[in-house]
This record gives sequence, structure tokens and C-alpha cells, in this order.
Amino acid sequence: MNTFQDLGLNQDLLQAINDMGFVTPSDVQAQAIPILLDQDTDLVALAQTGTGKTAAFGFPMLQKIQMDSRTTQGLILSPTRELCLQITNELKQYGKHCKGLHVVAIYGGASITEQAKEVKKGAQIIVATPGRMKDMISRRLVNISKIEYSVLDEADEMLNMGFYEDITDILSHTPQEKSTWLFSATMPKEVATIAKKFMHQPIEITVGTKNVGSDQVSHEYYLVNARDRYLALKRLADANPDIFSVVFCRTKRDTQKVAEKLIEDGYNAGALHGDLSQNQRDLVMKAFRNKQIQMLVATDVAARGIDVDDITHVINYQLPDEIETYTHRSGRTGRAGKTGVSMVIVSKSEVRKIKSIERIIKKDFVKKDIPNGMEICEVQLMSLANKVHNTEVNHEIDKYLDSINQLFDDTSKDELIKKFFSVEFTRFFNYYQKSHDLNVSADASGNRPGDSGDNTRYFINVGKKDGYDWMKLKDFLKEILELGRDDVFKVDVKESFSFFTTESKLQEKVLAFFTDFKHNGRFVNVEVSEDKGRSTSRGKRRRDGGKRRRDDKPRGDRRSSSKNDSGNRRSRRSSEGGSKPRRSETRTSSGSSRPRRSRR
Ligand code: ADP
Ligand code: MG
Repeated sequence: MNTFQDLGLNQDLLQAINDMGFVTPSDVQAQAIPILLDQDTDLVALAQTGTGKTAAFGFPMLQKIQMDSRTTQGLILSPTRELCLQITNELKQYGKHCKGLHVVAIYGGASITEQAKEVKKGAQIIVATPGRMKDMISRRLVNISKIEYSVLDEADEMLNMGFYEDITDILSHTPQEKSTWLFSATMPKEVATIAKKFMHQPIEITVGTKNVGSDQVSHEYYLVNARDRYLALKRLADANPDIFSVVFCRTKRDTQKVAEKLIEDGYNAGALHGDLSQNQRDLVMKAFRNKQIQMLVATDVAARGIDVDDITHVINYQLPDEIETYTHRSGRTGRAGKTGVSMVIVSKSEVRKIKSIERIIKKDFVKKDIPNGMEICEVQLMSLANKVHNTEVNHEIDKYLDSINQLFDDTSKDELIKKFFSVEFTRFFNYYQKSHDLNVSADASGNRPGDSGDNTRYFINVGKKDGYDWMKLKDFLKEILELGRDDVFKVDVKESFSFFTTESKLQEKVLAFFTDFKHNGRFVNVEVSEDKGRSTSRGKRRRDGGKRRRDDKPRGDRRSSSKNDSGNRRSRRSSEGGSKPRRSETRTSSGSSRPRRSRR
């Protein structure tokens, strides 16, 4: 069954499907539509967001209701006003060739009298948010006693939002013998409970694996101090110049605050939350769709069901209280066959939540570093260079060219390029030259690997004479072993050999990698060492962590007075002091000599 014809839909609907350009039914449509057309049954359907659930219940409902009757026969409950309107519009599209069809949306924040008037004209289908629906029932402005089909759309979210009581109340005004169709992205136990309570032997269909996020989405987390959250957000935005993102906050207040700060700081940002008027929300959504807003800061509730396809990044400014909610958030990106990134900014106390999320989404997070100032300058510069390169010449400027050329008469192309790009670069450079490293090592307190004893010390047969110092060796190891920045520590470089340490759980990986590894034409040999690394880890760990810090005075001081520094190293580091150019040279020679990464 891979056409809509095969599903048993009537001509009016097929015509609309054709008009809309739908060619193949989605999985949930292919499964649900024939069942719902053929049988009067209850149904539980689990499918991710963006899989076409609206049509999965919309088509069967449209085909089954009596168009020539004015009785309300179908009731669809959905969690938010936005979704409610979205579903109503979709249904109107699907039913545009169905003569006599009247679909009415009922939701809070708009005139109840207007909505009642629409209902009174004879609505076969009502799409409603639970709160307003309950209101209208108690005022006897709707009659749902003849309902034959009821849909609980985004059931998990409605329950998350505390609509359980309202739903119970509403359904008590509907007849026993109706069919109930429940659609949900996830199946937390609350949804199972409601299914049990309101449904009779529902047929269950699951599309894809339960609770699994889209394959198109990769998941990253960034560990920072809680107080650096906002700075981290800005860096993530700066490091992705073409970002088109939803930034999730936990509360309306934070949402508003973060959006305001971003706007103040010159970003194309907007807030979306429940304290805004409908009109404000519509304006924000319109600006977002038009990409005038690049960063939409939103609460979970307000962002639910946002149907915008090319979101590149979802940023979890704060993790949601409910882990399930993470699935919804990350489902905002990676839609319509595109790839997306879901980023999480976490503080140390939240790191363990990442593990729980990994279990639920059955995918691993990649721990990433917040880019440092120079990395961002580089990204911005290259992004500008690419933009300039791809820009089509606008010949309106021709008439000014003479004067411009005159001005640059004595400037060589080389010089001109340098000047041109300096305009943009200097802006970022000035901002970022005093910036700090925002990254926190996962173990900077408490479970420091060096203290736990659960580490492995290795011997490696390269050293100073091979051109390594501890920074270079650490970077080299991290890179070839594909480890995180804190996975290799206590790197101690001697003349012709060195030592380093990892957590013991990495031992197998490290040794396996080096069984047959050649670098610059010679075998690099790694063995487990008896030397446990005598110095306490504290001083060295801090030094490692401080490597990328720029002008972080207090730490710099602590660092150079560290007892564990060898005299040699101390003088070297303090001579680097706060001098910027030197600092960035150090970076280039250690970390950044790799070719430019292309960032997305
Ligand atoms: P869900 O409710 O599962 O999140 P929607 O019903 O909102 O998904 O559908 C997401 C988008 O996909 C909508 O824009 C819808 O018009 C479109 N869509 C639905 N079914 C199809 C299909 N069979 N072919 C192409 N596009 C579809
Ligand atoms: Mg939906």
C-alpha cells in the first residue's frame, strides 16, 4: 500500500491530496487510515512529530462524518492554540472538496462569542484546546452529546500540561459508544493510563521505535558553569552564523529574559511564551517563518507543534524537567529529510540527566567544547568570505564605482582584502579578545579522575625529541583516539618518552588503537605503566584546563604559582602571561594547526 488510492479514501479527499501535492502516505497514515476507515474502533497511535499524524486521523474523520448534517460529530482536542489552528487549517485543506463541511477552532484568548457563533452555524468538526472547550461546555455553547469520533492529539503533551482533569470532564459529556483515537509522540505512563480509562480495546500502532528521536538529529552537550549559560548561548550562536533555531527555556520568565538580552546584544531573536498576547505570538511566529528571527526563544508549551521545516539547531538553554520533553524539543529540527543538531547547555549538577536522555532516545550525546573566541572569529571570517565569494554583483553600484576606485587607487588587491575583512573580524576580535574559556571539566571537583584511583597510566615512546610538549601530546592523543578534552590527563613529557593517564574504562580502546599504529614512519608504542604519576592531579589538571583560557587573570596567577609546575614550565607559562598574540600563537601551534573545520 503505497498510494493514497490504496488506502480506501474517497474522491473528494484524493482530489485534495493531489492538490496539496502529497504523493505517498507516511507510515502512520498507511497504517492508521485503513483501520479507521474500515472499523469503528479505538486506536492508540505512537509516532514522532512531523510524521503526518493530522492526516492520519483527519482523512478518516472527514470521510466518515455526514456532511449534510449540522450535528457536531467529531471532536479533536489538542494542547495549544497554535496546534489547534494548525489542525483546523489542515482539515480545511483536506476537506476543501467536501461540500458543506464546517470545521471550527475553539481556543482561549479569542472571543468566545465569535467561536460560539461559528459553532452554532453547524460545525461537524470542532478542534479545541481543553481549557476553552470545558468553558464552552459549561456555558452550554457547544453540544458534544452526539460525538462519534474523538481525537486526543499530542496526548502526552496535553497531560504534561495538566489537562487530565479537563479531558476527563469534557469526555464525560460525550456518548459512551463513540470511537476515541489517541495520537502521541511518546507513551509515558500517564498516556497509558488515559488510554486504559477512556478506550476499549484500542488497536495500537507504533511507527518507528517508541520514544526514539529522529535519525536526522545529532545530539551535543556543552558543560559550563550555570552563571555562564547565557555567554555559552551567544558563543554557540556566533559559531553558527547561519543558525535558524529554537532556544528552549524552562519558564516564561527566562524565555522573555533570554530573548530580550539576545535582542539587546544584536541578535535576531524573539520570545514565544504564554504571557504574550495572541497577536504578539502571531507576529513572532510570522517573523520566525520569514527568517527575520534566527533565534526563537520559547517555552515548551508555546513551541509545541511549531511546524517550521528548516530549523538547523535546537538549543536547550535549560534541560526540561521531564526527560520525555527532550524528544519533543529535538524533534523540532531534522524535519523533512534535513539534518539538525540538538544542543544542550548543562551545568555540572545536570550532567547525569544527559545519561537518562541517552537511554530514552537510544542515541549518544557528543560532549563538545564551547568554541573559544578565536575559533569564533575564524568561523565568522570564513562565513563572510564565503558570502562575499557567492554574492552576485548588484550593478546598481556601478555608478559609484569610479569614486570607490579612486579611493582605492593605491591599494593592492591583497591589501584591499585585508582591510575589507578586518572590518568584520575586528568587531568579533574586539569582543572576544578578552573572553574566557567557558568550559568546565566534568570532573573539576568531586569525581576527579586523578583522585578516584580508577585510572590507567600509560607509557608512550615519544617525547621532547619528537617535538612534543605536554600540550601537543595531549592534543595529539585526544585527536587520534577521538577523545574528549578531559579524557587524557597528567601528560608528562620526558626527553624520549612520555606518560599519560586516562580513566581505566578507556584502557582497552587506547591499547587496541596503538597495537599497530605508525606515525611519521615509525611505530608508536603504548604500554600500561607502573608509574602512577606521583604528583597530585590537582595542579596539573588545572593547568590542562587552563590551557585555552585567555586572560583569565585569577586562574593564570594560581596556575603559575602552582607547586606542581616544574620551574622550567612555570617560566615558560608566565612569560606567555596575558600577552594576546603570544597566546594565540600557542593555540595555533598546539590545537589549531589542523585544517579549518567547516562548521554547520
Ligand atoms: P505530526 O502531527 O505528526 O507532527 P503533521 O500532521 O503536522 O505531523 O504533518 C507535518 C507536515 O507534513 C505537514 O506540513 C503536513 O502537511 C505534511 N504532510 C503530512 N502528510 C504528508 C504526506 N503524505 N506527504 C507529504 N507531506 C505530508
Ligand atoms: Mg500533530
